[in-house]
Parts: sequence; structure tokens; C-alpha cells
Amino acid sequence: MSTTDTIIAPPLGGPTLPQERRLVTDIPGPRSQELLARKAAAVAAGVGHTAPIEAVAAGGGVIVDADGNSLIDLGSGIAVTTLGNAHPKVVAAVQAQVAQFTHTCFMISPYESYVAVAEALNRITPGDHAKKSALFNSGAEAVENAVKIARKFTNKQAVVAFDHGYHGRTNLTMALTAKAMPYKSGFGPFASEIYRAPLSYPFRDGLSGADAAKRAISIIEKQVGADNLAAVIIEPIQGEGGFIVPADGFLPALVDWCRANGVVFIADEIQTGFARTGEMFASDVFGIVPDLITTAKGIAGGLPLAAVTGRAEIMDASHSGGLGGTYGGNPVACAAALAALDAFENDGLIERAREVGGILKERLTALQEADPRIGDVRGHGAMIAAEFVDPTTGDPDAALTSAVAKTCISRGVIVLTCGTYGNVIRLLPPLAITDDLLHEGLDVVAEALAAA
Ligand SMILES: *Cc1c(COP(=O)(O)O)cnc(C)c1O
Repeated sequence: MSTTDTIIAPPLGGPTLPQERRLVTDIPGPRSQELLARKAAAVAAGVGHTAPIEAVAAGGGVIVDADGNSLIDLGSGIAVTTLGNAHPKVVAAVQAQVAQFTHTCFMISPYESYVAVAEALNRITPGDHAKKSALFNSGAEAVENAVKIARKFTNKQAVVAFDHGYHGRTNLTMALTAKAMPYKSGFGPFASEIYRAPLSYPFRDGLSGADAAKRAISIIEKQVGADNLAAVIIEPIQGEGGFIVPADGFLPALVDWCRANGVVFIADEIQTGFARTGEMFASDVFGIVPDLITTAKGIAGGLPLAAVTGRAEIMDASHSGGLGGTYGGNPVACAAALAALDAFENDGLIERAREVGGILKERLTALQEADPRIGDVRGHGAMIAAEFVDPTTGDPDAALTSAVAKTCISRGVIVLTCGTYGNVIRLLPPLAITDDLLHEGLDVVAEALAAA
């Protein structure tokens, strides 16, 4: 290479990246536009994107793009980089493991890190009963396996999911997912023996937890029947569905009914898991002990890993060879998970999630008091959302929501929308974000709302 060639290396990611919002071009800048043109030509149209940038580095609370812009990250790649992107413990663990071996297939030649991840999950998930775990690659795969395991254990087939629920994009999990657009439309037929029950959605149904549970259980009993029902699956706080927090008493009543009727209660904690809600798991927020719990997203600091953890007698119901997969519990992902779990348990992240949540809730509540277009502010810990409505009718306002989100991104703050009606902005920043940066991000959200 000649000395006149200038290679501008992208900055290293991780927490040492300057923690600032910095816009040096419009969003998207010219380099990002180039990549997005190549994406449009080369990548299937069904794979969308929220922020029109080319990411080149990330860490702490920022994502840096190829044009040198530094955006505040209030989405954590959908609740994945809870620790902060390229977390030093995760990076070191991955680098060491990748140089040792990258794959043997756990089902062919087992290795220690998989077993250690299972042991850790068995220890930190709710309940002190005997537990076992199995590891997979994605959240959807974990949900699929939780259903397989529950069916095998109960010798029953039906599964109940809830209104607004999101459980993934594979065939079985599409059937469990509520929302047609964009997740299901045109992709059927869907897996059979899936039924849907009404959720507790206090802002829209006004029901107490006990009444909402009674309504759901009555429908389950009449339309499915406990004798046919293998499992009930629910997100203790819904993610894609709109960060809906059920009224107090709803989840405990469902758990009690499941236990009394030989039905496996599955908590899908793929979005809520690992300190996000200000507890290690959202089930802990409500004091429930699920029979099975699915985890993914935050588990491995950004590497693909997922798990089903639950009562040993349920997890052991499958014959040997019935569960698994080529890559499930990949050693590099397991090394990352062990580093991430160490951080979750020892680096004060639950406390940090509560602090971040306090700031989010205070700022959004102040906005709500000044602006009737915010109908509801809800969530737990560092998982807080605002639901946007028409102030006169209370109807969902998806147009306002997407306008606010787009303005935020153009001003260098990545926010995500969600909700069945597309009228919810959800904030789930990395816990490594500084208070100053978080406040600046929320200032931009407020400006975007004022401008809309
Ligand atoms: C994201 C998510 C899934 C699916 O996980 P993938 O890794 O995208 O397959 C399932 N359930 C919940 C609650 C989720 O948030």
C-alpha cells in the first residue's frame, strides 16, 4: 500500500467512544445513502430498517455512522445491548473463545460454557425449585421449543397466547403473535391449536387484574378447555405489543389457574429479561414463578443466544435427541453470555435500570401533563413507553407516533415505535448510557413532539 492512501479506520466501539450526540451531515449522510442504495438492490425488501444509517461503531449510549454522526441510542437494538454495545467483558470473552474453538456442536462434543450458562439461568430465574435449561439461537426458536416441551410433558396440544402478544416470526411463533401487519400478513397458513385470550390492558380496558383474569380464564375454559390445553404463553410486560403492563393480580391469577389445571405457564421474557425492568426478570416484578421461561435478546451482550429454562420434570419430559440444533448454545455466544451474566449480577445493573427508569418516567410524565396527546406513560425500569392518542376521542394516533420517531432519528436520537395500533414510542436505552446523554435524548423527544 502506498503511503498516500488514506484509510480512515472506523472508531473502536465500546464505552470509550465519545458519549455525545454529534450531527455532521443530514441523516442519512452520503456514505449511509450509498449503503442503503446497495441494501435496496441486494437485500430482500421484507427486511426493513428504522434508522437510515450505516452503523460503524457503537458503545455506551451511542451509535456512530459511516458519515461520522453520533446518534443517541434509546433502543438497544431492540432490548439486546442492555450492557452497552461492545461491552469490554463481552468483547474479551468472545475474543478469547473465538481463538480457542468456534464450534463443535454441543450435541456432538459438549463443552463447559454451555453447561455454565444453563447453571446460571437455573440459578437466577424466578423460583427455587429444581430447574434445567436448553439453549437455542433466537427468541422464536426458544418459544418453539418451550411449546414442544410443554406439549410433550402434558400430552396435550392447545396453546393460548394473548391479544397484542409477540412471540416471533417463525411459523409456530407467527401463529402465537397477534398482529397481522407486518408480522403475519400473507405468510399463512399458520400452525394449528393456537388460541387467543384477552389481555389486561388497564389504559384501554379499565379492568382490575382480577376481572381481566376472570375474563381471560372464562374464555380459555369455554373455548379451549383445560383438558386440551398444554400451555399458556404470555409476556409479563409486552414488548412489541406496546409495553403493556397488566393490572396487579392478573398474572398471579393466571399462574394459579394454570397450576390448578395441569397447564404449563410459560413466561416469554425475551424482551423483559436480564435487569431491563429493574428486576432480573419481569416475573419478579409481579411475584410470579413461571413453569417455563424463555430468554434471548439481552442474554449475551449482542451475540445470538436464547434459552428455555424451567421445572426439571417438565424440561426432562423430552426423549434424548428431541431437543437441540446445530448451533444452539454456540461456544462464542455462551462465552459472551457468561460475561454478560457476570455483569448483570455483579455490576449494579438492576439498580442502574431503576435509575434510568426513574429518569424516563419522570420526563415522560412531565411531557404527558403538558400534552394531552400522550394518553399513557407506562413500563417498569428501563423499559418505558408513551402511548399517543387523539386527545378528544382517545383513539390511537399512529401518524403522530411515526412523525415523532422520524424527527427524533433525523435529529440524532434512535427511538423505536411499537403497539398493535402503532401508537407507542418505547424507550429502552442501554444501561451504560450516561444521565446527561439520556436527558439530551429526551429533550429531543420533547422537541420532536412539539414540532409534530
Ligand atoms: C423479540 C422477541 C421474540 C423473538 O425473538 P427473535 O430472537 O427475534 O426470534 C419473542 N418474544 C418476545 C417477547 C420478543 O420480544
